[in-house]
Amino acid sequence: MVESGIMVVRAERRPRRLGDARREASLGSWYRDAAMHSRWDDAEARRLEGLDLLVYASRLIGAETSLVVWGGGNTSIKTIERDHRGREVQVLRVKGSGSDLKSVQRKDFPGVRMDDILALLERDDMGDTEMVSYLAHGLLDSGGTRPSIETLLHGFLPSHAVIHTHADAIVSLTNNDHHRDVFAEVYGKDVITLPYRRPGFRISRDVADALRGHPDATALVLERHGTITWGATVRDAYDATLELVTRAEEAIAARKRGRPVFGGPRVPMREGAARRAAALAAAPRLRGALSRTRRVIVTFDDSPPILEFVSSAHGPRLSQIGPATPDHTIYTKRLPCVVALEGRETGESLVAAIEGAVERFVADYTRYVDANRFEGAELGDPRPRVVLLPGLGMFTAGRDRRTTGIVNDIYRHTIDVIGGASAFGEYVSLSARDAFDVEYWPLELYKLTLAPPEKELARRIALVTGGASGIGRAVARRLAAEGAHVVVADLDEVGARKTADEIIAAVGAGRALGVGMDVTREDSVSAGLGETVLAYGGLDLLVSNAGIAHSCPVERLSLADWERSFAVNARGHFLVAREAMRILTAQGLGGALVFVATKNVMSPGKDFAAYSAAKAAEAQLAKVLALEGAPHGIRSNIVNPDAVFHDSKLWSEDVRRERAAAQGIPVTELEEFYRKRNLLGVRILPEDVAEAVLFLASDRSAKTTGCTITVDGGVKDAFPR
Ligand SMILES: [Zn+2]
Repeated sequence: MVESGIMVVRAERRPRRLGDARREASLGSWYRDAAMHSRWDDAEARRLEGLDLLVYASRLIGAETSLVVWGGGNTSIKTIERDHRGREVQVLRVKGSGSDLKSVQRKDFPGVRMDDILALLERDDMGDTEMVSYLAHGLLDSGGTRPSIETLLHGFLPSHAVIHTHADAIVSLTNNDHHRDVFAEVYGKDVITLPYRRPGFRISRDVADALRGHPDATALVLERHGTITWGATVRDAYDATLELVTRAEEAIAARKRGRPVFGGPRVPMREGAARRAAALAAAPRLRGALSRTRRVIVTFDDSPPILEFVSSAHGPRLSQIGPATPDHTIYTKRLPCVVALEGRETGESLVAAIEGAVERFVADYTRYVDANRFEGAELGDPRPRVVLLPGLGMFTAGRDRRTTGIVNDIYRHTIDVIGGASAFGEYVSLSARDAFDVEYWPLELYKLTLAPPEKELARRIALVTGGASGIGRAVARRLAAEGAHVVVADLDEVGARKTADEIIAAVGAGRALGVGMDVTREDSVSAGLGETVLAYGGLDLLVSNAGIAHSCPVERLSLADWERSFAVNARGHFLVAREAMRILTAQGLGGALVFVATKNVMSPGKDFAAYSAAKAAEAQLAKVLALEGAPHGIRSNIVNPDAVFHDSKLWSEDVRRERAAAQGIPVTELEEFYRKRNLLGVRILPEDVAEAVLFLASDRSAKTTGCTITVDGGVKDAFPR
């Protein structure tokens, strides 16, 4: 209950928190309680004013994902500021294009002069390009963020604060074939609704005209699009949004209660382990099929709300009607790809069904573009972003893990909207032409171009074994810095997660994953590669690096120590490479294997038999893989480092002592001994090895396979030959 008296909050056993409704929905129940509760904190808000208060309220709106999908929605205030000459001018501060409400900052709100905006009320229509350039001229500060393409929706309304969302609940009310009756029942005459029109000048004009005709309206709804609410204060506009949405959520909840949504299950939902096995078999082939133009990252989701929808009697058909709002189209495309499954397919029959569905999607999508194309529109990547598998779950595709998360989130909201709309009647959507106009709208495409240019290893997935320390950690960081998604595998699971967390802190969420992996065990290796595939869809680069050292003369060497060295330094590389080859060949996108071996392969040292012999096996394996991988475009190369002490677990105290003894020097002089031994007289650091690995893992070495690069400062006996 808030002082304005318009919020209705039900008595509950515990206070609700942000995201509760989503968590409850993900527990598998389709019934969602009306959940839109105020998150306004008076104590915090009281300290803020003007633009700071708007930023605060915008973040509250953005944090509730059922109000706006990523990047969607916008907010504004009208305020008095001083221009470059010190004159007081009325300014609209409105969210800029390409920022996201939940993390929006002051700088994301460009100021547009109100007199420039109001002058446009004289006009009947205006082209998009002209409008964008006109608004750019009206900016208080030149340069900086481009104002939202929905700026005029805000500027044409007289109120101080305006909020525009794409609330799921409201869209559910408009996207059904009984929406007129539904609106009259829920809102009476308080709320104006306007038929769908693409964002731009005309819809802003319509909104201004409609309000002039109904000055008592409390809110305005754009059909198949979203809400517009306003107030004399930011708080009033925020409360008005919540009241509008709460009434819609309550109406939906009342209609849904006790009804099976989507007609109940059609296809049996497989149990968790079977779903995981099927997804593992399917993902690399799917990623290959979706990456024919450019590689994509692919993420699997089989959470209960997804499974319920894809496995239901009506879900797959309803999914082919269209997007919930124009905003959804940008990330998910107009339609998802539905794979025709009966719930029992496995292995090849599953993969064939998926590949067939993707092929049909491409043909249909190309037809849709041809039928609706306007001058200057070029066919984009015709492959799906969302793939629905009855009985199994959903795959989403995108340029990186963050994007697959956004696509996933947007499709979850689409499912919510379809479910809500179906409670009132038959779900309806934008026409194919309207969806196309938004998907290929130059102003929307502009938003996507705001992302920085892609790095060399963008869209690639790398797995680095022994990634918790030393060379492995340096390699993982280096590949991530060049844009790769990196799975850090190590026997030391805590260390692997720590390296992954460091990478995420440096390059962004979703870009690294830490997994525990014992490379000597088949089940552990296949589990680690499985996690990689479920998180990212496949693999492009393997850096097989995990190793151990043991120093002892042969006559005293125990069989156990010999076999332990072979287990890690030979079998480990075999197991990891075998699993990687299976994924790489299934994808059909080529790939690179890089084996971190040792200078000892070329130039063995005494008392180092177990280590050198096993590492020689690794090097031979790498060369055979160059032969076997070549027909698939898979390259296999070797890096031979020497004496990399820094951050190394391989150079344990024991190994240092034993190697010093073998060289006949005090242990304190060991590092210096190795430095002086090489031609350049340099210390070798993990970062030096990482540079060589990057070269061999990237397309910089696209025409090199079966090769060995030394990173040892120059050791004559160890020159490759
Ligand atoms: Zn909008």
